[in-house]
Amino acid sequence: MGLSSDEAWLCMPCPVASTGCLSNYQSASYWYHRYCEGKLKIDTSLDILCDDCGTAKDWKDWRFKCGNENHKFYEYPAEDLDFIHALGSAMSLKAHSPEKRRVVMKIINKISGSQC
Ligand SMILES: [Zn+2]
Ligand SMILES: [Zn+2]
Repeated sequence: MGLSSDEAWLCMPCPVASTGCLSNYQSASYWYHRYCEGKLKIDTSLDILCDDCGTAKDWKDWRFKCGNENHKFYEYPAEDLDFIHALGSAMSLKAHSPEKRRVVMKIINKISGSQC
């Protein structure tokens, strides 16, 4: 429970572009596992993990739903670039401590490097 040195809380705006959520970069929020309401974290091996039940999957295998007007009912996967933009905007909003910003930068760099 809690964060290890290579983990950060998953904090970002909704990363789903098809619902129009992604254009709203005004705020970032924490994300929670729908099955147990546990707080989600992300690590430098690009897994998203539930702090409560321990579920861990590659970030690409997660589906997201934020509850915005047009995104109340269905969960969608996030595209690489959209996910990077969402994580990056949380960085610019200073949603993370300096130490955790380094972790999130590492994650962003890894995802950008892995797409070709
Ligand atoms: Zn959980
Ligand atoms: Zn959304």
